Amino acid sequence: MTFSRAILRMGNVALAALLAAVISPHALAADARAIHERILTLDTHMDTPMNFARPGWDIMDAHSVEGDLSQVDYPRMVKGGLDGGFFAIYTPQGPRTPEGFADARDAALKRAVEIREMVARHSDKFELAFRADDAARIAASGKRIVFQSIENSYPLGKDLTLLKTFYELGVRMAGPVHFTNNDLADSSTDPKGPEWHGLSPLGKEFVAEANRLGIILDASHASDDVFDQMLALSATPIILSHSGTRAVFNHPRNIDDARIARLAAAGGVIQINSYGDYLVETPSIPAREAAMRALGAKYGPFRALAGERLKAYMAERHAIETQYKLPTATMDDFMAQLLHALKVAGADHVGIGLDWDGGGGVTGMEDVAGIPEITRRLLAAGYSEADVAKIWGGNVLRVMRQVEAKAAEYRRH
Ligand SMILES: [Zn+2]
Repeated sequence: MTFSRAILRMGNVALAALLAAVISPHALAADARAIHERILTLDTHMDTPMNFARPGWDIMDAHSVEGDLSQVDYPRMVKGGLDGGFFAIYTPQGPRTPEGFADARDAALKRAVEIREMVARHSDKFELAFRADDAARIAASGKRIVFQSIENSYPLGKDLTLLKTFYELGVRMAGPVHFTNNDLADSSTDPKGPEWHGLSPLGKEFVAEANRLGIILDASHASDDVFDQMLALSATPIILSHSGTRAVFNHPRNIDDARIARLAAAGGVIQINSYGDYLVETPSIPAREAAMRALGAKYGPFRALAGERLKAYMAERHAIETQYKLPTATMDDFMAQLLHALKVAGADHVGIGLDWDGGGGVTGMEDVAGIPEITRRLLAAGYSEADVAKIWGGNVLRVMRQVEAKAAEYRRH
C-alpha cells in the first residue's frame, strides 16, 4: 500500500493527529522543549564569574542584556533549560613581568574564590562539580552544575606548580593563552605573529602537567601550531571550548576542517561559539571605537557601576550602538557553524560553548534564555535526541572521563 492510500484509509482523527505532528511547528517546538528539558545541557564557556563581584548583582535576580549587559543568571538558566557548564576564571593578558604574573595570579585566585562564594551563597540552587559523574547527580538533585575552567593560563606565570593549586580549587579545564602570546603559547590573534611557533618549552610542560593532574586541555584562542602540538603531545583528547569553523567564516579564531577531523579522530570535541566577530564580517568603525573609549573613560569599568550610574552608562552606550551600527550575527550564522562542524566531525565530536558574558550571543539568541532554539533547530535538521544529548553535554563529559582515567593511571605509577 502506498503512503497516500494509507492516509486515505485513516479516520479523520488519526489523520488530523498525523498532520498536526508533521506540519505544526508548535507541536515540533513543544517536543523540542521536552527533549531539551530531558537531556543534560552543559555550556563549556561562560565568562559569567566576571559578574559575581558586581555591586548589587546577584545571580538569583533576573537581569537583561539591555539593563546591564549580563547574559546568564539563575532565572534565565531555568528559562533556557541550561543545567550548567564551565564557569571561566578569565584573566586578561598583561605584562610578562614578575609583578604582572603576581597580579594575574592573585586576580585569578580571587575569581576562583568568587565562584565558590556564589555557590556557597546559593547552595540550594548551585553545586560545584569536580568529576564528570557529578554532573548528572547534581542535575538530578535539581541544582545547576558549576564546573570551573581557566581562560588564559597567564596567571601561572612561570610557576607550573600553580596549576595544581587551581586543580585543587576545582579547575578541570584550562587553555594556555588568550588574545596575545604569553610564556606558554602563541595566540591565534597576536598582531605580532608567532613567538614560539607553537607551545613554548614551558607550555609543553603545561600540557604534561594538565594530563597528570586531570585537567582537560583547551585549544580555543591558541594558534594552529599550538593546536597541532597540543594534539600531538597530550595523552588525552583535547577540546576547543568555544571556537568556530574557518570553512564557514574565515577568522584566525576559527579552525579549518582538516584540523577538526584530526581533533575528532583523536577523540576530542569542538564546542561551537556564538561570538559575533567570529561569525560574520565585523568592520571596525573608528568613530564608534572612539566614542566607546570616551564612554569608558567617563564611567570606568562598567562592571563597577550600579543603580542610576549604570542606567546612565547603558543609555549612552545604546545611543552609540544606534548611531554606529555594526552588522550582527544571527541564529542562522550560528547554526551554519554548528551544522558544518557536525558534518565534518560527527555528532560525537561537537558541542556548545557560547561565550556568554564574554562577547557571545546572536540575534535570536541574545542570552542563555534563548538556547532551546539550538535544540529545536538540531532536531529540525534531523539529529536524534541521542545526538542532541551528546552535543549538549555527553561529548564533553566523555572527554572528561578519559582525562580522569588517564590522571588515575599516572597516580598509580
Ligand atoms: Zn574567549
